[in-house]
Amino acid sequence: MMRAFIGLGSNLANESGDSRQILRDAIHALQALAIGEIRVSSLYSSSPMGPQDQPDYINAAAMFNTDLTPHELLDQLQSIEQDAGRVRLRRWGERTLDLDILIMDHAVQNSIDTNESPADQSKSSMLKIHDERLILPHIGILDRAFVVQPLLELDADLRINEFSLAQCAAASTKDGIHIIDGLAWAN
Ligand code: ATP
Ligand code: MG
Ligand code: MG
Repeated sequence: MMRAFIGLGSNLANESGDSRQILRDAIHALQALAIGEIRVSSLYSSSPMGPQDQPDYINAAAMFNTDLTPHELLDQLQSIEQDAGRVRLRRWGERTLDLDILIMDHAVQNSIDTNESPADQSKSSMLKIHDERLILPHIGILDRAFVVQPLLELDADLRINEFSLAQCAAASTKDGIHIIDGLAWAN
């Protein structure tokens, strides 16, 4: 069993609702992939990253345990994107739903049995993949405040290689992102 952190984003409505409804529906769809409860971050609004002639995004992150392999999880996420009417028009362009696997790691039970600190353990247990379909950890994490901030809500000890997400967040600007709803948005 692994722990999966998923980044969610939307800046287009579909026939069943607005971006907020699309992310809410996505969380419910993710439940079928999870073992146990899904934890969600607050809901954020962010300025677009690529082309600027598109609406602002809403973003969140979710965390759950799963028995799916990383590639099986990617298949499932892409199928949920398709169900939400995702069309790829241009790189980093407008979309009804983006679901990215940000991080997968082995859930650390406790640190009593080893001399490693919890941070060292999470570093060593983090999955690294680099193939034509999947890159883990997701390549854009540290550059994107709309990813770092929700991730930190889910686990403040997360590290990407030698970088602590908390230190990265403290050093970087949060311009363009703000919380628009607390943890109950997905209910
Ligand atoms: P970015 O990945 O920079 O956030 P994007 O989410 O807009 O951009 P997509 O069009 O959603 O990009 O996906 C393009 C391809 O990225 C997918 O077909 C998928 O195979 C690949 N990919 C690589 N690593 C990941 C990952 N960690 N999570 C999701 N997709 C990934
Ligand atoms: Mg993305
Ligand atoms: Mg994507």
